[in-house]
Amino acid sequence: SVADALEQALAAIRPAVRQGKPYVVGTPPEAPIKLNQNESPWDLPEPLKRELLEAFFALPFNRYPAEHPERLRRALAEYIDWPPEGIIVGNGSNELAFTVGLAVIDDGTPVVMPRPMFSLYEMIVRLHGGRIHAVAPGPDLQFDVAGLLQAIAQHRPALVILTSPNNPTGLAMDPRDIEAVVAAAPGLVLIDEAYVEFADGVGARPLLDRYPRVLLLRTFSKAFGLAGLRLGYLVGHPAVVQELYKARIPFMVDRLAETVALTLLRHPELVQARIAEIKAGVQWLYRELAALPDVEPRPSQANFVIFRTPLEPDVLLARLAKKGILIRNMSGYPELRGYVRVNAGRAEENRAFVVALKKALAGDE
Ligand code: PMP
Repeated sequence: SVADALEQALAAIRPAVRQGKPYVVGTPPEAPIKLNQNESPWDLPEPLKRELLEAFFALPFNRYPAEHPERLRRALAEYIDWPPEGIIVGNGSNELAFTVGLAVIDDGTPVVMPRPMFSLYEMIVRLHGGRIHAVAPGPDLQFDVAGLLQAIAQHRPALVILTSPNNPTGLAMDPRDIEAVVAAAPGLVLIDEAYVEFADGVGARPLLDRYPRVLLLRTFSKAFGLAGLRLGYLVGHPAVVQELYKARIPFMVDRLAETVALTLLRHPELVQARIAEIKAGVQWLYRELAALPDVEPRPSQANFVIFRTPLEPDVLLARLAKKGILIRNMSGYPELRGYVRVNAGRAEENRAFVVALKKALAGDE
């Protein structure tokens, strides 16, 4: 019967996959003010978009792109001052994280990571059969560096995963602490820097020069405002990266995305101005939230702030959604029960959010 055949078809799927859950943000209602996915609030300026349309016109859509976007890789090599052979460009940094998982994790491979951690990494380790050794946070959700060092000494992980600034907390790890972890790790250390452009300092980039075990993961989705195009890049020692190439999906980056990224890299002033405005927005949101009675925001080096209020997150989200504002419930992370997250938008969006929040807290349904 069809039912039996379906049973058999499903039985062919690996248990690690069947026991999991898909990564879904959900499709939130269309809302005029969208502050729930840490995106950039600005699309590219219209003249630039028109220029890109012209450029798209000249591209042969019927031809495969190169296995790897050479021009973009060279532009990135210049941008971060690293040999092109040590860079993989991918279809979003999330996909490159899967590449690392595929290359490194076998059944039972130990992986150390702090908690709370961007949920995708747990999913990647689990899907590949790895064993997660998670290190709980210290007070105020801080990275427990001593705990990480101890877990590394105890479990000798093939892979340590750090995200700095961290999503979901917004906290950045002190560069000396990152180095201590890197120095102690026996295998590879993947450092996700999706939000590094919003943080003070230069992040973990200097460690690349001294530690061949470091892999930096960056994205065009946040500071560069290209979440809709799917572009990320991974940087590491060329010999390590050459191995990761063997696990990479071919033709990962399409011609349109490459063209847009190249154009944007030629306009650093635009990106820098937007980063400055987002950073100011985050500071403003933090101060406004901290000034409200019973509202507890956490300091952030990313483009978002997490905070707690006396309201249940779902109640707060519903009240804000009625006013056309979307933020995110973070209660899915056990350490973040009761927390919600708002990313910095345009100044007027941030102001509208704070006005709506005050009304929601005052009981305005
Ligand atoms: N890493 C982290 C920690 C993130 O929070 C995000 C955004 N959700 C990303 C990476 C972005 O991934 P991508 O480059 O695939 O858009």
